[in-house]
Amino acid sequence: TWNFSAGPAVLPQTVLEKAQQELLSYNDSGMSVMELSHRSSLFQNIIDEAEAHLRKLMDIPDNYKVLFIQGGASLQFAAVPMNLLKEGKAGYVISGSWGKKAYQEAAKLYGDRAIILADSSKEKHTLIPEVKEVPEDLDYIHITSNNTIEGTAYHEIPTWNDIPVVADMSSNILSANYDVRDFGVIYAGAQKNIGPAGVTIVIVREDLIKESNEIPTMLDYKTYVDSGSMYNTPPTFAIYVAKLVFEWLLDLGGVAEMVKLNQEKAGLLYKAIDESNLYASPVQTEFRSLTNIPFTIADDELTKQFLQEAQERGFVNLKGHRSVGGMRASLYNAFPLEGVQELISFMKEFENNRGA
Ligand code: PLP
Repeated sequence: TWNFSAGPAVLPQTVLEKAQQELLSYNDSGMSVMELSHRSSLFQNIIDEAEAHLRKLMDIPDNYKVLFIQGGASLQFAAVPMNLLKEGKAGYVISGSWGKKAYQEAAKLYGDRAIILADSSKEKHTLIPEVKEVPEDLDYIHITSNNTIEGTAYHEIPTWNDIPVVADMSSNILSANYDVRDFGVIYAGAQKNIGPAGVTIVIVREDLIKESNEIPTMLDYKTYVDSGSMYNTPPTFAIYVAKLVFEWLLDLGGVAEMVKLNQEKAGLLYKAIDESNLYASPVQTEFRSLTNIPFTIADDELTKQFLQEAQERGFVNLKGHRSVGGMRASLYNAFPLEGVQELISFMKEFENNRGA
């Protein structure tokens, strides 16, 4: 089976095997990771190594903190304004459905102090909109580095004076060559490129962490900084699997190598779509995502047939998001090249069978 799910997504086979081997007894302790106290030295080593690996993979400078939080990327939609908004406003670039949700959450909490700087809704998010005017009193600008549903991505991160950029990187963290120094905050739910659902990574520049008595404890970044992400029981198993995924990625040569592989995978699929008379990509070429690739067939009946035959042949979770329709192939880091090649053969066969 080739699993094209947008998330939770495929994990590397070797990581699953290692987790299986260690499932009943971690490091000869006679206990599963799931049974270890989070206060034990065994678990402390796991979380420390996970952080060290991530720092290495993303070249995270010392003045950035790495936090392990629960609640998914969706909870960060509220945590970001709570932690970052000072006297000014919060600016949002709406380049897709998730960016809109992030904005709506900030607006729910802070009303018109949350403002929209650019919005590609009219273009059905087939491009990344440009910010034309930047007000001076912004505490941060929020972007979505990769739009999971619509299949667009920032290939370069814009700078807007010295205003901190906050990025929801849930669907392309560790699969793009971004420089952490270009961001004030990066956050990402784990369940696409990092590990099982349950843990969310937040990388935050130290000087942005404010002292406040008003933020609920579990939403306050300072709580996680002061307690090493262990104010309460962290999602221990998810952090352990994330550590294994980071090790897998380091062994493969790190993010730069992964980007090359992702470019190859995505390049093959875009080429097949562009060369065909049946399939089309709805996204403007310069903004195409490497990790989420939507494609369409003009005829609804044929779309249904395509999805059904694909399913029967073991290509699963290819249906596009209900707001976009058509198909979407999500090719996160752990998705193998071979699966893309097989999908392309199937797409060609399907097209040829219809005499297109
Ligand atoms: N942001 C982006 C870009 C996403 O792709 C998703 C989920 O797919 C989310 C946020 C929501 O993440 P979570 O389910 O971890 O709250």
